[in-house]
Amino acid sequence: MVMSSLIQLLPDHIANQIAAGEVIQRPASVVKELMENAIDAKASKIEVNIKDSGKTLIQIVDNGSGMSMIDAKKCFERHATSKVRSADDLFSLTTKGFRGEALASIAAISHVLLKTKQKDNEVGSAVLIEGSKIKSTEEIVCSNGTSFEVKNLFYNVPARRNFLKSEKVEFNHIVDEFERIALAHPNISFQLNHNDNEIYVLNEAILRKRIVDILGKKGNDRLVPIDEKTDIVSLKGFVLKPEYAKKSRGEQFLFVNDRYFRSNYFNHAISKAFEGLIQDKSHPSYFLYLDVDPSKIDVNVHPTKTEIKFEEEKFIYAIILSSIRQALGKYNIAPTLDFERETSFDLSPSEMKQPIQEPTIKVNTDYNPFNSSPARSFSNSDRTQSKAINANGFGSNTSKREDWDNFYTIKEEAIKDEAPLEITDLKVSQETNYIIKDGIIFTPSKSGLMMIFAKRAIERIIYDDVSNSFISNPIDSQKLLFPITIESTKKDLIHWDENKAIINQLGFESEIENGELIINALPCVLHPDNAVNTINHLFSIIAHKEIEKGDVAHNLISAIAQSSSMKPLDLSNNEKIQSLIEKLFSCENHMYSPRNKKIVETLTIDEIKTKLL
Ligand code: ADP
Ligand code: MG
Repeated sequence: MVMSSLIQLLPDHIANQIAAGEVIQRPASVVKELMENAIDAKASKIEVNIKDSGKTLIQIVDNGSGMSMIDAKKCFERHATSKVRSADDLFSLTTKGFRGEALASIAAISHVLLKTKQKDNEVGSAVLIEGSKIKSTEEIVCSNGTSFEVKNLFYNVPARRNFLKSEKVEFNHIVDEFERIALAHPNISFQLNHNDNEIYVLNEAILRKRIVDILGKKGNDRLVPIDEKTDIVSLKGFVLKPEYAKKSRGEQFLFVNDRYFRSNYFNHAISKAFEGLIQDKSHPSYFLYLDVDPSKIDVNVHPTKTEIKFEEEKFIYAIILSSIRQALGKYNIAPTLDFERETSFDLSPSEMKQPIQEPTIKVNTDYNPFNSSPARSFSNSDRTQSKAINANGFGSNTSKREDWDNFYTIKEEAIKDEAPLEITDLKVSQETNYIIKDGIIFTPSKSGLMMIFAKRAIERIIYDDVSNSFISNPIDSQKLLFPITIESTKKDLIHWDENKAIINQLGFESEIENGELIINALPCVLHPDNAVNTINHLFSIIAHKEIEKGDVAHNLISAIAQSSSMKPLDLSNNEKIQSLIEKLFSCENHMYSPRNKKIVETLTIDEIKTKLL
């Protein structure tokens, strides 16, 4: 038998060329790797010079540590790195690089001239390397730090070279990488030149200034700061106010330990935080910086390292969601309107002179406005009767219960998603000047005709009331004289129990006894008539969601608001309608309901005229 072997080890330069395909996809990849090396070398100033979108030249100059002659030659070898000494180091990475393959890859597919000097050395070193082969080395006079000049990229990989997109596209990729790194390191000065034109000159700055330098001056007023610290993650940065959300994914930047990364999962948390504030299909802009223990992340999952695994991703999701939502609430984000508030309710002088109509309110004989006991009781037998709920306000800083009872009286009503409002549900007096049809209020505004979907308006008002007070205090609850037993599955009970803290905060009091859920108290905005339906709705919400505080709260409050808005409306006179409109316009986002449905639409005079032509 002849012993022979067909297997041979690939020569290094071929192995490098193959590896290069993974790490270096386009000129922008070279820019990224070399800028990261400069940062790892503790540079405080980094200059990037590009010619013809990187096809002719990519040069990165830094004032960092520099290298000795030995290292200047060694750095191009595969797996040559000064950043990882043992396997353990891989679990506590604080540097950008660690694989030791970027320079080997770049040198395999281009011509590289390296000039470098350590500050304690009199002279520097120059190394010229082409297609992994060192062509020359010499001692030179140069300044402290390192300069890499990369020419003829992909000269020996024609397939790659032909695969490159137009110069414009390739340069955009370079700018993307440059911005990501510059945003991650505001304490470093950066400059980007293209064909000798200065594209960016970024001086060392605080984070906000760096972001504004990149976003443009107008950006400053658009930023809402985010700041949250927990044991597991610290979160800082900014989101852009909802009105600057974009149809295309615009400025969306996530960083962990000063490293840019992408995450659909966290992006989802951010979008969720904006839910109800921006339109469907538009995307919020953000600059978010996470800091986590490096041993709790794995940056090794992707060769170009833009995807990162987090050990505590669910917790981080929840923190992102709740802190953005809180910040948006705190900074009182309101969309800009095309009409002014005072003039949006303007009535013509003749309308103003009309006598005010007496409101037609269903008299509620049980209701005692002077009853100040904190929780009124309901018996189950009371539940089908029409009655006001509770004389207590249901939000600490908001309107009182009796205001609400003026808007609607209660009757049994199924909770259906977007159940259309019957015109018969609206008690509109004939003499009123607002026109109401199919639950829509039509009213003149400064710019034309404004239309308001009343049920969604109420949903928005209740949602805001509850969520505003929810942030600081538990929602007022009302005790039930006869507790309600809810039919529930084991899973429902598990989810209910898991979310109990939030559910209690919302004003529910409950216990699980012999496998049954017993409700002893309800949030006072929720009439007992609607309890069973609402709780079933809540079951379906918590079954689908993780235990994310903000997320669960948003959905639960939204469900409560939805069920409360199902009651027949009483908009029997101008005052009530006006009061509803005023309440709506004092909401942070009066244009959209919590479930992102449009509340207000305006037809301008011009639009109306066009239709009449
Ligand atoms: P890695 O960054 O993963 O270590 P690289 O191939 O990018 O691998 O770089 C190899 C080594 O070359 C680095 O570990 C570092 O020691 C050295 N090096 C690269 N760029 C610079 C620089 N700009 N300044 C100083 N040293 C550098
Ligand atoms: Mg590197």
